[in-house]
Amino acid sequence: SLEGKTAVITGSNSGIGLGIAHEMAKAGASVVINSFTDREEDHALAAQIAEAHGVDVRYIQADMSKGAECRGLIEKAGRCDILINNAGIQHVCPIDEFPVDKWDAIIAINMNSAFHTMAAALPKMRAAGWGRVVNIASAHGLTASPFKSAYIAAKHGVVGMTKSVALETAREPITANAICPGYVLTPLVEAQIPDTMKEYNMTREEVVENVMLTRQPSKEFATVEQMGGTAVFLCSDAAAQITGTTISVDGGWTAL
Ligand code: NAD
Repeated sequence: SLEGKTAVITGSNSGIGLGIAHEMAKAGASVVINSFTDREEDHALAAQIAEAHGVDVRYIQADMSKGAECRGLIEKAGRCDILINNAGIQHVCPIDEFPVDKWDAIIAINMNSAFHTMAAALPKMRAAGWGRVVNIASAHGLTASPFKSAYIAAKHGVVGMTKSVALETAREPITANAICPGYVLTPLVEAQIPDTMKEYNMTREEVVENVMLTRQPSKEFATVEQMGGTAVFLCSDAAAQITGTTISVDGGWTAL
């Protein structure tokens, strides 16, 4: 059980982050959910998760594109025994047309935020004598596809950063790992279907079958519950010697 632990999950009012929040709460952890939006629904969501699992859940607004806010999230959380770096965005475009502001935003949110939150969280984990970092990378942290240069650069960066932090904490009761999901049908994936349809001149069904799931030998989307379950496993005693590595939850994508 993760009772007594506090899990801070960046970008968790939707998709995989929200799925992880539920699984962490189910496992008994206190949870901090986050987004940059600060809407009434975000606070209501925290109350819902708390109600569903009988644990303490707080919503803390912070924009993961800004280093100081990333660090501020960890400070405001108080404890941070489990850090899940999940916030992420995508933009699909050939590199010679890739908008510079999108490049900068993807690198900031998908990669730099993990630097800032880990820098702020590690001293807290050391003080508590236990810590788990779980970075949500991607199959695109290990392989590539066309038209996603910023995302792939950021996710490869996260995988590398995770290994470095694992070595820095290797002699301590702290681990750092990355989960590499294949395709999970979340709002992020829904949003890239229209652009991919355009790039490849395909229908929606063709994009799902021939672009997305073509890389996923299981021919099934992975689920947010499976990501949450994997994150909870990485926080278990069984995973205490698992550090500096990646766990693919991708239906066989990276075996191809
Ligand atoms: P999603 O769009 O459903 O969720 C993204 C989350 O990030 C949301 O909660 C959003 O509020 C938050 N976010 C975005 N910008 C933010 C900012 N500036 N500050 C704070 N929060 C911000 O997407 P998802 O599919 O659940 O993706 C979650 C993570 O999983 C991402 O890092 C993504 O790259 C990764 N991932 C997703 C898939 C997939 O198939 N869905 C596959 C591999 C990796």
